[in-house]
Amino acid sequence: MTVRPADYCPDCGSATTAREIEERERRYCPSCERVIWQNPAPCAAVAVVDGESVLLVERAVPPGVGEWTIPGGHMEVDEQPEVAAARELREETGVGVDPSALSLVDAELLAPFRGKRAVSIVYAVSFAETEGTPTAGSDAADVRFFAPREVGEEAFSFRPHVPDRVERALDAV
Ligand SMILES: [Zn+2]
Repeated sequence: MTVRPADYCPDCGSATTAREIEERERRYCPSCERVIWQNPAPCAAVAVVDGESVLLVERAVPPGVGEWTIPGGHMEVDEQPEVAAARELREETGVGVDPSALSLVDAELLAPFRGKRAVSIVYAVSFAETEGTPTAGSDAADVRFFAPREVGEEAFSFRPHVPDRVERALDAV
């Protein structure tokens, strides 16, 4: 299983071929005689809500360098989604939260990035239920709370899904 179409078999290294299976063109390893499935990678994120404001980070790594987004990232292979979300929040903003305090907002397939597909699982929590002062950490150039009227303003760049997600996060907390 890979997040991008596999040109080579991840097990044996042979060049893959195209094969139509279950009405889609898949990558197939002729040596292993198996399909190399392409599936999205799960990511988890947390919207920290303080009154009507939401904590966002300015991305320091692709995709979307310089764009503001809800802190989050890839799940580790053995993590529950809410644990991954809490870990990413701490790494990117220094804000700590008990994973059990998080409320699920939604899950959504993101637009492709260099052929890679990801599903983002978004949680929300009240700032009062967290600990620590927001400080830009790994993968973040800056961190700050945004009032709803600032989200989508031209003075800032946002990841495409952010304004809609912020609205849903505010509804959830
Ligand atoms: Zn193979």
